[in-house]
Amino acid sequence: MTTHTQVRTRIAPSPTGKMHIGTARTALFNYLFARHHNGVFLVRIEDTDKERSTAENTDFIKDAFNWLSLEPDEDYTQQSHNQEAHIAAAHKLLNEGKAYKDGDAIRFTIPAGSTTWTDLIQGEITVQHTQLEDFVLLRSDGTPTYHLGVVADDAAQQITHVIRGDDHINNTPKQILLYQALGYTVPAFAHVPLIHGPDGAKLSKRHGAASVQEYRDAGYLADALSHYLMMLSWLPGDHNTPITLDVAAQQFNLKDVKKGPASFDAAKLESINNLYLRELDNAALITALVPFYPTTITGTIHQRLSTGLSDLKSRAKTLPELATAAAFYADEAPFTFDEKSQAAIEQGQPILRALTSALATSEWTRDALDNCLATFVESQEIKFKHLGMPLRAALTGHAGGPSVVGIMLALGKQETLSRLELVK
Ligand code: GLU
Repeated sequence: MTTHTQVRTRIAPSPTGKMHIGTARTALFNYLFARHHNGVFLVRIEDTDKERSTAENTDFIKDAFNWLSLEPDEDYTQQSHNQEAHIAAAHKLLNEGKAYKDGDAIRFTIPAGSTTWTDLIQGEITVQHTQLEDFVLLRSDGTPTYHLGVVADDAAQQITHVIRGDDHINNTPKQILLYQALGYTVPAFAHVPLIHGPDGAKLSKRHGAASVQEYRDAGYLADALSHYLMMLSWLPGDHNTPITLDVAAQQFNLKDVKKGPASFDAAKLESINNLYLRELDNAALITALVPFYPTTITGTIHQRLSTGLSDLKSRAKTLPELATAAAFYADEAPFTFDEKSQAAIEQGQPILRALTSALATSEWTRDALDNCLATFVESQEIKFKHLGMPLRAALTGHAGGPSVVGIMLALGKQETLSRLELVK
């Protein structure tokens, strides 16, 4: 490879179901590496397993990459479309005496010697060929195997760096031998450690959610999931600041990817999601909330949320949590109160009555409302909680919730006074 060769990476998922977050992480590393080098990131769908490669499973891949903003720089390709080239490559090797017929199958001859490569993550690896067995290139039904397909396609797509899960380390010497036998340039390899669950086993459904779609549906933000996946094995420095893919790409270096297995920590992912929820502006947050919010977010509710979310987002770990906390903005008064709120309102009735008049002449800004409540509490000679509890219950229908001034600002003057009117 000359220094002028453009970097070309690819992720080559097999469409077997929802996208495993390990695949998403490997895709991210391919993407970041390509971006860092002003190169090209590709997605090739390895759809040669006819039974599992359904349209639905293929869509899961495109859907996940789309959601994660990991769109390939060239169109998605499908391995099955290249079968003829694979078959031709097998026959070439057969004709050159580098492969042989084994019944109806064609098998590759492992030559004598050893293969060494410098893995860009794992370091130098040497495998003695005595440890390898002649392997099938074309099955007896004429279909190409994974080894043949992956090498032929990577060569055809001029992939310069194969960045993939370390479960493929054992395949690498066989594939290097195939590159050499076919006269192709051998790409660089980088094997990313797998993600493990808390018990040390490879992360799977057994550990709970393991797919990109499950995290999206559970109310995680794409950027938060990407951030967490980058943290697993790579992201250096301060992990508690949001990072864009562009900035991550500037910093990305395969040398910094850790060799050991990464351990998945659901609580850490939650805290990263909270970090991104807090940082997201309310307009974008409302869009993200749409699938989780209990009602359609109409004009009025939209308006309330664009103010009200500011006081709620710092506490939420996921979008459904935030949607539940913000649901009262869509509720129509009069409310059915729970016991605690009912009691607070009954006890606070004289206070609420007096407050309604005070609020009616107040301006509707945070400062004015803070002032109005402070003066009111002082003049009534009561503690703030004696006002806060019935007020919050009257405005939200619940005993708990964000600050009452925040709620009043989000509801607006008219709605605040009319909710108070109904209980006083
Ligand atoms: N289709 C293979 C997999 O999903 C890709 C292997 C590779 O990246 O070379 O594991």
